[in-house]
Amino acid sequence: MNTVSYVFGDNLYLNITNRCMMACPYCIKHKWANKFKGNDLKLEKEPSCEEVIEAIGDPKKYNEVIFCGYGDSLINLESVKEISKWIKENSGKVRINTAGLANRYYGKNILPELKGLVEVISISLNGSNPKEHNELNHPMFKEESFNEIIKFAEEAKNHIPEVVITAVEFPGFDISKVEKIAKEVCVRFKMRPYLNNEY
Ligand code: SF4
Repeated sequence: MNTVSYVFGDNLYLNITNRCMMACPYCIKHKWANKFKGNDLKLEKEPSCEEVIEAIGDPKKYNEVIFCGYGDSLINLESVKEISKWIKENSGKVRINTAGLANRYYGKNILPELKGLVEVISISLNGSNPKEHNELNHPMFKEESFNEIIKFAEEAKNHIPEVVITAVEFPGFDISKVEKIAKEVCVRFKMRPYLNNEY
C-alpha cells in the first residue's frame, strides 16, 4: 500500500493518484489484491510532490521516469508539472502514460503547460470507434471521449517531442484499426500484450 514509485526494467514508474477519467472494467483497481508487477499500488492518500521527489532519488539512474498510476496522473496536473520540472532540472527524462482526456476534463488545452517538461506522452486508446471505446473503458465523457482522445493526440504533437498511441491486445478486439488511427494522426503506435487485470 502507498507505493509511490517502483522500478521495472530500466525505468522508474510513479504512482501519484488512483483517480482516473475512466472506469475500465479490467482495471486492477477493482481487485487491489492483484498486485501490478508485484507492487501494491493502492494509495491511502496521494503523495505530496516532496514525497514523490524523495521516492525518485536520482532520476538520471533511469532510462525514463514514467507517470503511470493506477490512475491518470494528469488528474493531478499541478503535481505532474512540479515533479517533472524537478526531474528535468536533475537531468532525467519524463514520460506520461494517460487516457488522453485531460483537455476535456479541464475544459482547456493543458498541453502547452507540459512543454519543455515532458519528452514522451503515451496515450491509451483501447477501442477503434466511440461505441467500442465506451464499452471497453467506461470513460467519464462516454462516447464523446473517443474523438477527444484523438484530438488530444493531434494537439500533443505541438508540445511534446514524442507522442505514442497504445492499445492492449484484448481478445476479440481488432487492434489493427487503432494502429491505422495512429498512422492517420502521424504518431507512433505501440501494441501492449493483454495480461489479465493489468494494463
Ligand atoms: S485508464 Fe488505467 S487507471 Fe484508469 S480505469 Fe482504466 S485501467 Fe484503470
